[in-house]
Amino acid sequence: MKLAARAKEISPSPTLSIDARAKKMIAAGEKVINFGAGEPDFDTPEHIKQAAVEALHKGMTKYTPVGGTPALKEAIVRKLKADNNLDYAPEQIVVSCGAKHSLYNAIQALCDPGDEIILPAPYWVSYLEQIKLAGGRPVIVQTRAENGFKLTVEELEAVVSPRTRMIILNSPGNPTGAVYTREELAALGEVLLQKKVTIISDEIYEKLIYDGLEHVSIASLNPGLKELTVVINGVSKAYSMTGWRIGYAAAPAPAAKAMTDLQSHSTSNPTSIAQAASVAALTGTQEPLRQMVAEFNRRRDYMLERLSAIPGVSCFKPSGAFYLFPSIAGIIGRAYKGKTIGSASDLAAILLTEAKVAVVPGVAFGDDRCFRLSYATSLENIKEGLDRIGEVLTSVK
Ligand code: PMP
Ligand code: GLU
Repeated sequence: MKLAARAKEISPSPTLSIDARAKKMIAAGEKVINFGAGEPDFDTPEHIKQAAVEALHKGMTKYTPVGGTPALKEAIVRKLKADNNLDYAPEQIVVSCGAKHSLYNAIQALCDPGDEIILPAPYWVSYLEQIKLAGGRPVIVQTRAENGFKLTVEELEAVVSPRTRMIILNSPGNPTGAVYTREELAALGEVLLQKKVTIISDEIYEKLIYDGLEHVSIASLNPGLKELTVVINGVSKAYSMTGWRIGYAAAPAPAAKAMTDLQSHSTSNPTSIAQAASVAALTGTQEPLRQMVAEFNRRRDYMLERLSAIPGVSCFKPSGAFYLFPSIAGIIGRAYKGKTIGSASDLAAILLTEAKVAVVPGVAFGDDRCFRLSYATSLENIKEGLDRIGEVLTSVK
């Protein structure tokens, strides 16, 4: 059977495939330490599960409005006001099957073939593929560790052109954990407003933030920026609900309508029961979230200390999300047991086969001198995994 050109262009999600490979090895009895996972290792809080059970018993098992139930839209409207000082009407909210789906809808609804989309790197894996699927032209801007892996105004000004349609911002960011300050967003916002660039602001890691930093949504800075922005968020990361598949977008009404119409011909509504559970997540106790953030903070600090002690490895301190993105620039070109390490992909392959440690090579995020470690795994696993990584890296000649 002949494949469509667009299908031939797609590469599978490397984050999901590495995680799946590690899980398969674990299921086959291998003692793999999995740093590949992009999902919290905690269970969904009990009150959220209960809300799903109640929804089932109440018979909430039918189609809902395409863009989400009135109850969930209302909960999202209140959340955006309380947490982000953003005023939206329910018709400006579109609930989808995970934040990934919200991003997909937004890019499909707002990007024409040939449009340039600015993508600061390192970037999360699916942005690039979703841009390509819409026929957009990614304009990748390499950010630097010296700037905290954040796009500067000068870097933005250097790439923005009359063909620029959109920029994707992700704060806190995957894979670097970079968090933009209010001032940094305001400075970028000034340029974007002047050039009328649509902003996709992926805020899925909003709640996973450390060191007392504040999360700021670029849409909240002024009404002009709000008119240009689609805010993307969801319940996957903050409430350990990755499998429930609920994400959402908040956007100017015509964009929200276009995204809803698009969704009406693809998935229709996201699962009714998961929507009911998401109402409980957003409106119920936030105590499980506080505990999870405290635990992530402990793990981040421990891992940073251990990684920094390995010769040839340097690691940027992330302020959010649950990933570390160490650089192995100091090791590239050297060898392990006669095998040359030419890139972080080579190292990732050695770590998996020799040390049974799964990491995601940075090439997936646009930087093959780094690799990504998720600390969404127990401190016990982290200790063991770092022992194994340390053993490999100290034997590099
Ligand atoms: N954005 C980023 C930056 C992510 O890391 C993820 C991870 N899955 C998503 C969006 C998608 O989240 P969801 O599971 O809600 O689709
Ligand atoms: N976002 C997570 C990650 O980066 C989950 C996997 C995925 O959806 O790509 O690993």
